[in-house]
Amino acid sequence: MLDTLHRIVHAVNKAPNLQEALGTLVSAVREAIDCDVCSIYLVDDDTRSNVLMATVGLEDSAVGKVRLPFGRGLVGLVAERAEPVNLADAPAHPRYVRMAHTGETRYRGFLGVPIIQNRRVLGVLVVRQREEREFQDEEVTFLFTLAAQLAGAITYARASGELDALTREHQPLHRFLVGQPGHAGVAIGTAVVSFQLSDLEAVPDRPVDDPEAECARFERALAQVEADLRHLQERMADQLPEEDRALFDALLLMLRSETLVSQTEEAIHRGLWAPAALRDTISAHAQIFDEMDDPYLRERASDVRDLGRRILMHLQDDDPGLVEYPPDTILVGEEISAMQLAEVPPGRLAGVVSASGSGSSHAAILARAMGIPAVMGVSEMPVSRMQGRELIVDGYRGRVYIEPAPSVRIEYERLIAEEEALGAEVEAMRGLRSETTDGHIVPLHLNTGLINQMNGEEQAEADGVGLYRTEFPFMVRDRFPGEGEQLRNYRRVLEAFAPRPVVLRTLDIGGDKALPYFPVVEQNPFLGWRGVRISLQHPEIFLTQIRAMLRADIGLGNLQIMLPMISGVSEVDELQQLIQRAHDELLEEGHVVAMPRIGVMIEVPSAVYQAGEIARRVDFLSVGTNDLTQYLLAVDRNNPRVADLYDELHPAVLRALRDITAAAGEFGRPVSVCGELAGNPLATILLIGLGVNSLSMSAGSLLRVKWVVRSISRTRARQITQVALRMEDVGQVRRFMEGTLEEMGLGGLIRPGK
Ligand code: PEP
Ligand code: MG
Repeated sequence: MLDTLHRIVHAVNKAPNLQEALGTLVSAVREAIDCDVCSIYLVDDDTRSNVLMATVGLEDSAVGKVRLPFGRGLVGLVAERAEPVNLADAPAHPRYVRMAHTGETRYRGFLGVPIIQNRRVLGVLVVRQREEREFQDEEVTFLFTLAAQLAGAITYARASGELDALTREHQPLHRFLVGQPGHAGVAIGTAVVSFQLSDLEAVPDRPVDDPEAECARFERALAQVEADLRHLQERMADQLPEEDRALFDALLLMLRSETLVSQTEEAIHRGLWAPAALRDTISAHAQIFDEMDDPYLRERASDVRDLGRRILMHLQDDDPGLVEYPPDTILVGEEISAMQLAEVPPGRLAGVVSASGSGSSHAAILARAMGIPAVMGVSEMPVSRMQGRELIVDGYRGRVYIEPAPSVRIEYERLIAEEEALGAEVEAMRGLRSETTDGHIVPLHLNTGLINQMNGEEQAEADGVGLYRTEFPFMVRDRFPGEGEQLRNYRRVLEAFAPRPVVLRTLDIGGDKALPYFPVVEQNPFLGWRGVRISLQHPEIFLTQIRAMLRADIGLGNLQIMLPMISGVSEVDELQQLIQRAHDELLEEGHVVAMPRIGVMIEVPSAVYQAGEIARRVDFLSVGTNDLTQYLLAVDRNNPRVADLYDELHPAVLRALRDITAAAGEFGRPVSVCGELAGNPLATILLIGLGVNSLSMSAGSLLRVKWVVRSISRTRARQITQVALRMEDVGQVRRFMEGTLEEMGLGGLIRPGK
């Protein structure tokens, strides 16, 4: 059954459109469970009916025509209950209706399972049997699994309008793909697919002007792979027996096979660039092997794919053209990385859409730092088909419109105009002090990691830098930067803000921030080798960084150092000793360095419970609510599937903050918040009320947060916070804070979405 399942899923995924996917599925299911009819109905909300979309066993002519109004028939019952209905004798059930025009006789056995995505019923998959038949448990779960696979394809077809085109004449108006808000804001622009060339599946379609030259490029790549294979074969001569080395002959034959070469060249002549032509040939080729019953031959599919990747690598080396970025580029990819964002020339990046990740992944944080609207985790997006298409990115609600209808475009253009108007009100905050109506100062600091991306106005507005993520400069290189390189980098930030404080955080790699030249492969990277855990085991990396920081501060005196991912006091003690050592050694070498203020990030639950002991040892605490939320709630901050559960306004997070400020207060240490929560205007009042001393956020949030600070007294903020702290559910807290901002006339600051 599992094998059959894999084969069906594969065939369905390969279908070029939804209609063919559905057709393939119904035929395969009927054969697999040996029944008389298999049909799929899809929910059509506009006409409030379930529409027959594919069938084997009923009349073909009924497809697209037979509609069961909601609430009618057994299909309706499955959709209402969102549960399977399994009946040995369906006509005996009170909800049974016999449908005209389908050629239906009184089929008795009935099994219907809902097709569900994100708790929403999208349709019903039905099998029928002429005789009485109660379907077995494994048949039910088999259909369940298939229905779950189908849900993604249906969601995409809905979003792209394909589904409407199938069920109705008129074109859709409001269809979109759903992801997670990455950074608030709206962008209208042109998709540019960013991809890693070694990932064949991710190669996007691109047109080619000179097919002859492109074919020659392809031929060169083939010749290079051939040379590589022969070289490998020779090298293996001493290690592999003759018969195993024959594998290379098979690969060489495959490489020069008529199908692989001529199919690719034909596709190039049809106007596709070589990587995409290759992608299609390899995929078709591999599929033939995938579908074979013999397990040995099925394995050959991976050889074909491997060959494809090798050819692609050489095409990449030989790639003549750089990617062109139009002025309104919307960067689209399976997993957009910091490097890919940085590759877009300044001023051309309008939006970001990533098929994976979520609002709190580092790509989103980077987009926020750059003020670019972003939507993350759009898992249904067919990335390879997006190149050059017009998109609307709604970073408030986490929506992406592909080639939107004119009415949608107009609506969004209006929203952009409204934003600009709100922007003017927010602008009025520029240059004013961040102080409450009763005169309490709340310093607002910047989170950054890319000093180059910041303009002078933004730098002037902030009271300092509350979090400089040093890993970004590490990520865009192909090796660890040396002391001198780091020194110059840190010096630029310290100088730009002096005498205002700048908090440099020591390297926090691991988790979702991998360095290409320092691979860490783990099953649970967020619970693994991350942040100071790496620093403690690689003191040479840590000491180099600290030396660069201390030297960068000479003559300025505004450096503060912050340690990420601390889970206990011994880590603090050891790292402080290392910092002291770097300091003493530099003095010995004749550098007149000073000992900076040292702080610790509170972002691991154990550190919340030891906040007092930690505070006693250092000069300040800064709460990393991004990680603290993920660890307190046990919700991966990058996983779109659980992104609904990830909410920094959760009562547990608020109470942790209360305990941290209380513990630090006992030792007279200030507490700042530098997670995304600090930049959310909905949380500003609570953070003031909880006794947080300063806030650190992306440049784009600064004026908005200042507006809230200047609209409330600290006394009132404390009262509101006391009420919120008694709330039991995050939804309650959110609604309460939204209501509070509305009452204060600050409703415009509420980000739509969650
Ligand atoms: C945090 O965890 O809240 C934080 C600010 O650090 P990062 O997002 O870089 O992990
Ligand atoms: Mg963190």
